[in-house]
Amino acid sequence: MKVVPLGNSCAYGQPGVFRGHIKFDNPRLIGFEWPFCEIRGKSAGPRLCVSAGVHVNEVAAIEAAVRLQRLFDPETMRGSVSIIPVINQPAFYKYTQLVCPIDNRNINFTYPGSPEGSFSEALCDAVMNEWCVDANCYVDMHGGDLRERVSKFSIFQATENLELNNLGRKMALCFDAEFVVALPASDMEKPGRPPTAFARHNRLALMSEAGANGLLDEGSISFHVEGVLNVARTLGILDSNFTPALNARVVCDEYLWIDCPFDGEFHADVEPGDHLTNRQRIGTISNLFGEVLAEIKAPREGYLLWRMTHPTIAAGTPVGAVAVPEK
Ligand SMILES: [Zn+2]
Repeated sequence: MKVVPLGNSCAYGQPGVFRGHIKFDNPRLIGFEWPFCEIRGKSAGPRLCVSAGVHVNEVAAIEAAVRLQRLFDPETMRGSVSIIPVINQPAFYKYTQLVCPIDNRNINFTYPGSPEGSFSEALCDAVMNEWCVDANCYVDMHGGDLRERVSKFSIFQATENLELNNLGRKMALCFDAEFVVALPASDMEKPGRPPTAFARHNRLALMSEAGANGLLDEGSISFHVEGVLNVARTLGILDSNFTPALNARVVCDEYLWIDCPFDGEFHADVEPGDHLTNRQRIGTISNLFGEVLAEIKAPREGYLLWRMTHPTIAAGTPVGAVAVPEK
């Protein structure tokens, strides 16, 4: 990858604040550049990579990526923090929901990607194996696309590598989350999200989720900001005091999608964060004559992680997801 500095930047790789653009070498990615900020301390130390904007309407995460740039001081920190606020550049200013408009792939489910694949596959490969190549931890921030509301949660990948497993859990607990979701080890067979793809190479990646409906709200922004700062403290990049957790941080080990059985209008009974009993009704699907087509039930006892807020839902697409607490 090549880095191109802006006028108000230090030289790349030197202590200070670098501001500029990344241009990846893969010819599939030519024509795009990724604004990024990298803050490097005077003393050597760990490297933390942080991103947002895989989903460009998840604006609380993007705003957190902007604010974090001002919260690391090269004079006092160790190591480096590199921040890309918007990964899905082709979608930026197009407000594309969930996917990259070049290949219609959801970048969040395309890891580890491939240098020979489509645009999104090449981008995932470049993020993982170029920008993040020496990172001790990668945090990808998400939450609250135009039609959804999410609870505050963090994600790590459960793995049989106990050291990495415990580190992932510890880092995910850095976020003042309602839920800390361990993706099940079975996900290792079908990577897609960054935590899974990184764990397959014994590397650490996390996701944080907070936000709703493409709106900025201070609670979601500070959830991401304070969580990343706590990750930096745990890594030893920052020496400041940890922000205390106020939420329950219930550790869950299953993430179950709830698909809509019919085209129709979804009317929810519950909100993200709510406890659900097994088979509890979470809402109904009705047609445009107001006739109820189906009741949608919780697949297990657990908590509603997120739900769609726009009522119109196509058959076979999710209305939400449930997290199941670990035993
Ligand atoms: Zn997202």
